[in-house]
This record gives sequence, structure tokens and C-alpha cells, in this order.
Amino acid sequence: MPDDGPSGDSARFGKALELVQGRTNRPLFEMWFQGLSLVGRDEKSLIIGTPNRFICRWLEEADPKSLLKACIQQAFGEDLPFTLKALPRKNATTTSATETAVSQASGAEPGASESAPPKAPDPKPDAVIRSSSRQAAKVSRSLNEPVAAQGLDPDSSVQLNPSYHFKNFIIGTCNQIAHAAGQAISQSPGKAYNPLFVHGGVGLGKTHLLQAICSELLKRPGSARILYLSCEDFVNQFIEAVEQRKLDSFRYCYRHLDVLVIDDIHFLADKERTQEEFFHTFNTLYNSQKQIVLSADSPPHEIPTLEDRLMSRFKWGLVCRLDPPEYETRVAILRAKARSRGCELPDDVTDYIATNVRSNVREIEGALTRLLVMADYSNKKELDLPFTEAALADSIQGSQRPVDFNDIIQVVCEEFQVRQSDLQSRKRTQAISRPRQLCIFLARRLTGLTLEEIGGHLGGRDHSTVLYSFEKIDRETHRKEDTRRLIDELTERVQKRKTVE
Ligand code: ADP
Ligand code: MG
Repeated sequence: MPDDGPSGDSARFGKALELVQGRTNRPLFEMWFQGLSLVGRDEKSLIIGTPNRFICRWLEEADPKSLLKACIQQAFGEDLPFTLKALPRKNATTTSATETAVSQASGAEPGASESAPPKAPDPKPDAVIRSSSRQAAKVSRSLNEPVAAQGLDPDSSVQLNPSYHFKNFIIGTCNQIAHAAGQAISQSPGKAYNPLFVHGGVGLGKTHLLQAICSELLKRPGSARILYLSCEDFVNQFIEAVEQRKLDSFRYCYRHLDVLVIDDIHFLADKERTQEEFFHTFNTLYNSQKQIVLSADSPPHEIPTLEDRLMSRFKWGLVCRLDPPEYETRVAILRAKARSRGCELPDDVTDYIATNVRSNVREIEGALTRLLVMADYSNKKELDLPFTEAALADSIQGSQRPVDFNDIIQVVCEEFQVRQSDLQSRKRTQAISRPRQLCIFLARRLTGLTLEEIGGHLGGRDHSTVLYSFEKIDRETHRKEDTRRLIDELTERVQKRKTVE
């Protein structure tokens, strides 16, 4: 047995971890292996410290154990047995990103061990937890740890926003069902509605609601493993796992969760292999009564190229829509957002914004921010209506009336010299069907209308016909420069019509 002192062993152990890193994917490595340290060695074996019992238990399983064993053998030049020992925090030599995340996922507090019973940290609800493509299952259990202490990757692409709680979510008729369903799930995950599928246009609160569910779940005692991530991250991780031939680890991460929350699931459109993978993840979790929560920009049947079997599964639980907020909700949102920034808006100012900024909550927030920045900049202490009108003039003019289907019809009819009644007729000649398909594509892109509503405007066509047309043009825009240019030009004309009126 080579024996060049403890530092040599440490270096060899470091080498062993590097070998593990080369044979696993990054998220898996960060989650399970990165926090290991060599804490002792006798003649016959190594003692390896793990940040907590959960990791210790996992490493005792056959696959991870044999991987670690093989890498140790290679690095130390001999087949050394080892024992794993969960360390109290002060002894752990490495603080890994997963120490907090996974230990809390297991219900144990960070640094928990047999010898040091966990002590609950003070709640710090402002803390942020994250998940990103490079940190696959950043399975997080608690908001109790400040970000820095979690040592998470600073370039994570998704994080739980500390203000996305239920208490900050204003309820109106536009969102009350989704809100109630979200609350029910956060009280009894896996039992209330499964899956919960929330859909709606941009800026209507999907991400806020999904994260509120996670934050609420994290407050519960127990040991639920919760993962929140964007669908884009899911897709990227899957691609990475395929490229690196690490599908087993990928599957392990995703199929051993209690709650899986994926934002913007429409990102699965056109990604056949990821859809297939997600289908199996979904089945495994669903069959074990684990909670799944999804959001998308449209209902399941309107997500282009979504496999039927996934579409039908998405409808198994509760599908609910977030609508643009109605006037009263816009007022309530404005008041709440202003108050959270330490200001009270006069009623006529609130009314002005709520009347003119209608499309979504993000725009309402944007208008408020603009107003407050301008007031600050102009040293204006008391906000009033004339100042508000002037401050928001540019943004409100023209931008607030959403594109109307008629704008599109007019532009397309003008371009192709056809009549509106032709587009609404049953005629299928190329001269008519082409402009009709373009109308459909533009309507999907520029209005908040559903496929059914678009079909309704076009002589009562059913949603699958509308979807077919949309997908046809959508494919073309990816392949043909001409089509792309035509779409850009028509879009510009539609937008112009909207602003001049
Ligand atoms: P989406 O994911 O649907 O595009 P977000 O969840 O990102 O929308 O919401 C956009 C912004 O609007 C966020 O700042 C969010 O907090 C806010 N918001 C949306 N809905 C509400 C609501 N009902 N109450 C309070 N804020 C809301
Ligand atoms: Mg969102």
C-alpha cells in the first residue's frame, strides 16, 4: 500500500473524486460526490466523510458505491475498502452546493449526523433557492439557508423569487381557481390535484404561482423532495445526460422526487426524445402518487407537436387558466405593488394605470416602476394624475390595445388581395388557404386568442385545423427565409395599425 503521508492520501482522494466527476454528469457529481472528504485511513481501509446521512445512505447503494470504489482503486493504485461516515458540519472539509439542498431534501438539517443532532436554523424567508441546468436535481427542502451558505452556482438560471409567495399573489376572478388549486396542493401534495396544469399568456402569474407552491411546501415539516425548474433546464439536462451517456443518473434524480414542478412545459414542443423521457418520468412519479405541477402558455391540446399520450396525461388532474386581470384586480395589484415599494398611489392615478394597462401583470408592474423612477428622477414627492399621464405617455400610447384579430385580417387581405369572407369560407384553393394560414399564424403569435377562438373568427374551423395551419407556417418560418421575412413584414404592419388607431 503506498504510504506517503496524509497529504498524499488527500491528493489521491482528490484524484479519485476527479475520476468520479469524469464518469458522472455535473449535477449528479455536485449533488452526491462533491462534498466527500477523506477523514482517515488505517492499514486496510479509508474512512470517507459525507456531509450528511442522506448522502451516506445513497452512496451505500450498489451503483454509486461501485463507481466510487473503482475510482478509489484507480487513484490509490489498489483495491481499498472504505467506510462512509456522516460528519457533523464542523468536520466536513468541503461545503458543497448539495450539502444543504440534499440534506434538507432528506429531512435532515445541514450537517446533521448521528453524533450531532440537527438544530433547526432560524427561518429566513427572504432566502433564495435555485435550480439550474447545470445543477440537475437541486432538490431543495428549505428556504432557511441564506444563498451564500448554500454555495450555489452563481450562474444558475432559475431561482425561487423571494417575493413569489401566496401572500403576495392578488386573487381575482382571473386566477382564483388556479390560486385555490395551488394552495390545495401545497397543503396535500399528491392528493389534491395531480397533475396541476396552469396555463395562460405571458406575465399573468404562472411562475409566481408555481414558486408560491414550492415556497409553501418548503415550510412544511417532513422530508419531501421538491424540485422546481424550467422546462428548458429539463431539456438541457436531458441532452447533457444523453451526450454523456448518463441517463441512469438523470432518471434517478428525476424519479426519486416527491414534488416535481416544471415551468413553461410548452418548451417540450418539437422535442420528441425529451417528451418521451418526460413521459416516463411523469408515469413513475404519478404512479407513486408524487405531485406534478406544470405551467404552459397554452392548454395541453394547443401545445404544438405535443404527443397525444402526454397531452392526455396533462389533463388527468386539473387544468386551469390564468386570464388577464380584470379592472378590480388590476387596481388591487397596483395598490399592493405600490405599497410594497413604500408608496400609496392616489385613486385617480391608480385608476388611470388600471384603465390603460390591461394586458398582463408584468406590464402593470412595468408601468408602476416607470412612474416611480420618473418621480424619483424629477424629485416629485406627491404623485398626481398629470405627472402620471406624462410619465407613462410613451408606454401607454399604442402599446396597450392588444392586437385585434381584425387588424390581422385587414393586413392579410390587403397583402393578398382577398376578401375577409373568402378567408372565412370553405374554399381551399392555394390563393385562399395560404393567406388563411398566415392569419392563423399571426393570430397565435400576436393575440391572446385560443385556437378555438381563432377558428371561430375564420368561419368556425375546429381547433385541430387551426393548429395544423399554425404548425405548417411555424415550420416554414424555420426553414424558409422568404416566409420569415413575410411574417416580419406583416407583423410590423399589424403593429402599426394598432398604434395609429
Ligand atoms: P408568467 O410566468 O405567467 O409569465 P410571472 O409569474 O412571471 O408571469 O408574473 C409576472 C409578474 O407579475 C411577476 O412579478 C409576478 O409577481 C406578478 N404577478 C402576476 N400575477 C400576480 C398576482 N395575481 N398578484 C401579484 N403579482 C402578480
Ligand atoms: Mg413564467
